[in-house]
Amino acid sequence: MNALSPVPPAPVPAIEPPLALLAELTHRCPLQCPYCANPLEMERAASELDTAAWLRVLDEAAALGVLQVHFSGGEPTARKDLLELVRRAAAGGLYSNLITSGVTLDPAALAALADAGLDHVQLSFQDADATQADRIGGYRRGHARKLEVSRQIRDAGLPLTANFVVHRQNLERLPEMLALGEEIGASRIEIAHVQYYGWALVNRAALMPSRAQLERANEAVAEARERLRGRITIDYVVPDYYAARPKACMGGWARRIINITPAGLALPCHAAETLPGFQWPSVRTASLGAIWQDDPGFNRYRGTSWMPEPCRSCDQREVDWGGCRCQALAMTGDAGATDPACALSPHHFMMADAVADADAVAEGPAPALVYRRIRTAALVR
Ligand code: SF4
Ligand code: SF4
Repeated sequence: MNALSPVPPAPVPAIEPPLALLAELTHRCPLQCPYCANPLEMERAASELDTAAWLRVLDEAAALGVLQVHFSGGEPTARKDLLELVRRAAAGGLYSNLITSGVTLDPAALAALADAGLDHVQLSFQDADATQADRIGGYRRGHARKLEVSRQIRDAGLPLTANFVVHRQNLERLPEMLALGEEIGASRIEIAHVQYYGWALVNRAALMPSRAQLERANEAVAEARERLRGRITIDYVVPDYYAARPKACMGGWARRIINITPAGLALPCHAAETLPGFQWPSVRTASLGAIWQDDPGFNRYRGTSWMPEPCRSCDQREVDWGGCRCQALAMTGDAGATDPACALSPHHFMMADAVADADAVAEGPAPALVYRRIRTAALVR
């Protein structure tokens, strides 16, 4: 090569396809959980994507190289076309998971879903105690229905994950929840601490556990993992507020998951609509592949080049990808800041303050819950 040879352009790193499509089919749901991850401003049925659009999205996902589709909501069984969507996912070779409250399912519906090619069901529980579960979910006899449905899921030959969302008001019953997961024949138990976005942020003072509660929960999980080793997998992550390092939110911004809202907006995570200044693309007008590769919002926090210090020079930057952008925004007002869950963040004291507040109120009565309802949303926005 002589001095006049053109300098070859630097190679552009290839963007891997997403591993999973999170298809939020609807915000409709018979339950009213006060920690629901849905936004305060929920979509009504009239603004949901129609069947043809969802079928096209599933075809595009398969062509893009997506491996899994998670049918979620709201309650995805509220969609009359769910069977058709499951069938199309199976035809495209997508592994399909139904994330459901279960209360609308019955043996016939489950047999039809299994026949359509559904691979897995994730059934959510609000507690191990029926009275408390029904109070938290805002749905009478819901817990009893879920117990029946868990048996029906296994009768349909579908693998079952039992999902328990835990918080200040049910964490003392974690041993009973783990026992319930075992009793209903779940192959996986997911213990998910509330993430403080959407409705959960409104209810943070009523839901955030104390440090003492969390320590007892960690011990209960460690004991159950030992007892159930080789039989049941237990997924459990310590909540951000008590951690020294953040989680790799969604596996890193626009790295592993693409989320489609009921109205068709494509997001790198389900809370990304809270970020100001973004014009999120719609699958009504753009293909999944074009959105994933080229959308400025998806590329905004992808990789590591956007990172400020201390992330920029940190050896964990390709492990946790700087944590959660929505949490950074909610706490610091800057979505581009290091996640305050990180002990190295200059804003980490905010997490410590929230934990101190939770500890201070842990012994007293919890504030009243604000339930997930369209009419209460207007009051708390
Ligand atoms: S968290 Fe509760 S209210 Fe929200 S979608 Fe799930 S079951 Fe429905
Ligand atoms: S400084 Fe940034 S990359 Fe390092 S551990 Fe904290 S959040 Fe992760």
